[in-house]
This record gives sequence, structure tokens and C-alpha cells, in this order.
Amino acid sequence: MITKITFRFYFKEFLLFIFSTLLLLKIAAQDSSYTRPPVTSNWDDYKKQVKKDSLKKMVELKSVIPGIVYDLRYATTNNFMKRLMYPAGTNQTYMRLPAANALKKVQEELNAMGYGIKVFDAYRPFSVTVKFWELVKDERYVANPSKGSGHNRGLAIDLTIINVKTGKELNMGTGFDNFSDTAHHSFTKLPEEVLQNRQLLKSTMEKHGFKLFESEWWHYFLPGSDKYEILDIDFKKLSKPLN
Ligand SMILES: [Zn+2]
Repeated sequence: MITKITFRFYFKEFLLFIFSTLLLLKIAAQDSSYTRPPVTSNWDDYKKQVKKDSLKKMVELKSVIPGIVYDLRYATTNNFMKRLMYPAGTNQTYMRLPAANALKKVQEELNAMGYGIKVFDAYRPFSVTVKFWELVKDERYVANPSKGSGHNRGLAIDLTIINVKTGKELNMGTGFDNFSDTAHHSFTKLPEEVLQNRQLLKSTMEKHGFKLFESEWWHYFLPGSDKYEILDIDFKKLSKPLN
């Protein structure tokens, strides 16, 4: 009788153990796995694509936008990961030609008001998106590499507005990469000044073709992700002349 009860007890425990192990394995497998999308990682392939369609050229932003300021957070440890995601000292950032040209117009318009653009991040190599995913594995904070992101295609940018004279950022209510509701466009319980600053960024970006991203006031992208390849070419290589 005693043996039977003990056996039953352990049998129940055993089943529970198996069940939870399987569940944990399933969660782990779901979280880490992603389907690798087509990625251009070869310099010659990229060159061929640009030769066929000159709009695909990756343009270093400072080379076409006078006075643009960089604060490339992923080339420092001052980011939500608290670690270097780009080679230390990276001081170049890129977008596709139409995005760079549109951003130039945004800068001209802001400059006329005494303001200017500060960039936190623009083009992000695909392998860095994978690195983010492997470290965080949460779609609320980082992009799942399966789809590739606007940043990988050279179409997306994270930016804010600064006062050109003082170099100070306008108050946007939260900092860059703040993952709370306060960073959402739909969050309006904010001081009037903050709402106006966000509106200025939004209206100027939208006027030149950029689209907003609801949960991040700093992220804008040019539509057309179906036309542009996901790239995994490092910044150093992109700085080489095309011919
Ligand atoms: Zn972004």
C-alpha cells in the first residue's frame, strides 16, 4: 500500500517534470530561432545592385548634409544594451540615396528655424540586428531578424532635433531607446512644449516622405522596403569608392 502511494506520488512529479522541461525547451526554441532572409553581404553584389539602380547607393550622411550632428550610440556603451554594438569610434552613418536626399531637405528646413538634426542611428548591418536578437530575444525591444529591418535596408533613421546655437537637444519627453509608453506618439499626457517638439519632428519628416513608427518618437523610415535589399556590409567597406 505504502509503495503504491509513493510510486503514484513520484509518477505525478515525474510527469510534471517532463511537461515543464518540454515547455521550457519549446519556449527557448521559439525565442532564439529565426528564418534568415535574403541578405546582401558581398561588396561586389552590392556594387552590382547599385550599378543597376543608382538609387540603391548608400550615402554617408555628413557628406551630403551640412551641419548634421552624430551621436551614434551603438558605437559607444551609452545605449540600452550597455555595450558596443558597432566598432568603437565608428563615426560614419549611411542611408540610401533617396533617404539621404530627403533628410537633407529636412535639415535645410530645420536650419531655417535655428534647429538641426542629431542622428542616433541610421543604417545598421544585418549581423548587428542578429546580435541584438540573440542578446534580447524580445520583439518589443528589438527587431526579429526574419524580416530584416528598415535600418538594415538603409531606409530608417533614429534622430532628434537640436538647437544649432547651443547644440542642446529639444525636450522630447524621453531619451532615445526608451521602451515605455511615454515614447509612443499616441501618448499625449506630456507638457505642451514636448508635444510641439515631437510635432515639429513629425511634420518636417512627413513633409519629405518619411513615415513615423508609433512606439518610438525618434524612429522614421522611407517606404519601399520591398525594393531595397537587406545589407550586411560594414561601415568601413561602405566608405570605399564604388568604382
Ligand atoms: Zn530605429
